[in-house]
Amino acid sequence: MERFALHPRGPYALAASVRFLEGFAPAAYESATPGHLHLAFVTDGGAAVAGLCVRAEGGVVAGEIVGEADPGVVRAQVARILSLDVDGSGFPAVGARDPVIGRLQAHYPGLRPVLFYSPYEAAAWALIGHRIRITLAARIKARMAEELGPAVTVHGERLHAFPGPARLADLHAVPGLSTQKVERLHALGAAATDGLLDAVSLRALPPAEALARLKALPGIGDFSAQLILLRGAGEPDYLPTAEPRLGRAVARLRPRSSALRDGPHRARRGVAPLSHLGDRAPARDAGRRDARDRERRAPLTEDRDGGVTMMWRIVSVDVPTAMRGIVQ
Ligand SMILES: [Zn+2]
Repeated sequence: MERFALHPRGPYALAASVRFLEGFAPAAYESATPGHLHLAFVTDGGAAVAGLCVRAEGGVVAGEIVGEADPGVVRAQVARILSLDVDGSGFPAVGARDPVIGRLQAHYPGLRPVLFYSPYEAAAWALIGHRIRITLAARIKARMAEELGPAVTVHGERLHAFPGPARLADLHAVPGLSTQKVERLHALGAAATDGLLDAVSLRALPPAEALARLKALPGIGDFSAQLILLRGAGEPDYLPTAEPRLGRAVARLRPRSSALRDGPHRARRGVAPLSHLGDRAPARDAGRRDARDRERRAPLTEDRDGGVTMMWRIVSVDVPTAMRGIVQ
């Protein structure tokens, strides 16, 4: 069994990643062993399946690989999935000077974005979930993994990876999916096999070009392309503009924010708009101020529009951007 270690730069808590996955329908994740994060995925490039046990050991994230996958590929992929491939050491300073970010940090200590296992899998999720309920989409995706995906056993737990690009390319009918969706998944499988969804190359492109490349795939529009780029490839420096819940969350936290109205050009360097726009006007009377204070202090998980998942989208924008040290 191959082992590797990842050394987070900046705050990180593996337990926060696990909690996120447990609440994230597309991941269909259930902890089987406390303290162990067990994952199974088809590796970047589609060559092999990897089973993973990831544990926190002191300040180190320790991984054990099950299967024949290339350990270097798996290590890099896990680092990306857990957002440990970026330097977060500048992140606490952002919270220290910005109370909204500071409050998010206090609510989600050590949280970093947890990505889909690959841009390919994020794209598959987007295509499967188009115009159906998220819970139904999650069931279909999990069933595809069980019936079509490679299986691997990690510390006694049987895990099914989502099928790789080659399997998707010769997919037949899938219960719950329209013929059009199956055709789109075929096209995705072919594109991924051709390397068009490679995370490294997507992140190397200017975001507009990466998004254009993704939108050339049948069934991928603005929303899906942004999802694939941010939550599949892990591009840290792009603020999604096609996600209405993010807009509502920003409006709630920063009632006077114009971050999203300013659009992707201004917003591209994520934290700056989220941190610096929307300073609140002085309260005109104590009653209103109290109400606003209560609103600001309300537990974020009680948010009507999706709680943790939605707040995570803000954190997911802020964390990696701050990590790059580009915020002054
Ligand atoms: Zn384990």
